[in-house]
Amino acid sequence: MTDEIALYIHVPFCQSRCHYCSFVSFAGREADIPAYVNALEEELTQRAKGEHLSSIFLGGGTPSLLSVDQLAQILVRIRMLFRVEKAAEISMEANPGTVDEWYLDAVRQLGINRLSLGVQSLDDGILSCLGRSHTAQQARQAVQFARNSGFANLSLDLIYGIPGQSLTGWQNTIKEAVCLGPEHLSLYPLSLEEDVMLSRAIRRGELPAVDLDCTAEQYEVAEDYLASEGYRHYEISNWARDGAECRHNMAYWRCTPYLGVGVAAHSYIGGHRQSNTHDLDAYLRMFQFGELYRPETDEEITPEIQLWEAVVMGLRLNQGIEFADIRDRSGVDLVSRYGQEIDELLYLGLLEIDGQGLRLTRRGRLLGNEVFWRFLPQ
Ligand code: SF4
Repeated sequence: MTDEIALYIHVPFCQSRCHYCSFVSFAGREADIPAYVNALEEELTQRAKGEHLSSIFLGGGTPSLLSVDQLAQILVRIRMLFRVEKAAEISMEANPGTVDEWYLDAVRQLGINRLSLGVQSLDDGILSCLGRSHTAQQARQAVQFARNSGFANLSLDLIYGIPGQSLTGWQNTIKEAVCLGPEHLSLYPLSLEEDVMLSRAIRRGELPAVDLDCTAEQYEVAEDYLASEGYRHYEISNWARDGAECRHNMAYWRCTPYLGVGVAAHSYIGGHRQSNTHDLDAYLRMFQFGELYRPETDEEITPEIQLWEAVVMGLRLNQGIEFADIRDRSGVDLVSRYGQEIDELLYLGLLEIDGQGLRLTRRGRLLGNEVFWRFLPQ
């Protein structure tokens, strides 16, 4: 049995709060970064068991607010505590407005070999509506800086389904993004919690509501365009050149073990799903005073939940799920257990089937939740 895991490090600091953000992130707390980096080191030290790491992902928040020395401090500790694969994928998220060529060059020298830029749009009006702290020109420059620094694996995040974003405006953004030549693209529909600034502006009538038909059309247009440009659609929201699929995220979709370190990080390890506190001060206190790590939540993954997760996460991948693999992992014959649900989804045109397994159709990718709830544990 292998002890291979993926490692996620959460960096919850941001320059300002974007108008749609409901992630665990804090603006105006940069003074806490040094203590936070020390706390990360302590959590890593307490939780590491010398596992084999195939991928490391520094996500946020805005990891690019960390100095090169702080990133080095984290990565040196990781290399001391784990067996990091020589060819491990080491990703870092960056906000385009926070990087220059010198910084990215130094980051690259640390062994970070994949950069995920939160571009979100290449239209300044849309960026301002989203409350992003960078401009389209800074995003274009960040791509150039990354290439000049030797990053050969570059991913761009884009958002669609934004109030007031026309189909043509979205098409212009994805066409320009493709011209920038990324190896990987993540496209997310805008998702708004009730209490974020954009939701309040919509409720006050200052912005139009999200147009779901336009959002669906934007997704389909992107699917067609990216296919014509040679990007492989490998997961509902992700496209890649051959071989540039995100190895770290594949661990989530394949339900293989991962360790999440930092505020609000989640882990799936040893048959348990654990989450860390969302409270930055509580997190810092836990490690400043030499306490033992304790998760905020700790749930044992029952075979029923394991089955549901394997099906739902596997269906997110365009290759879908294989009956034999599900049977091996959970001991359940999917067709016997969910025959009626599968028939219904085939009839609705949301799933397709062959002798080996199941996958979402194009329509199913648009309406994934319609599929997923049918496999909820009984
Ligand atoms: S950069 Fe990301 S995490 Fe930070 S405020 Fe914006 S959306 Fe939230």
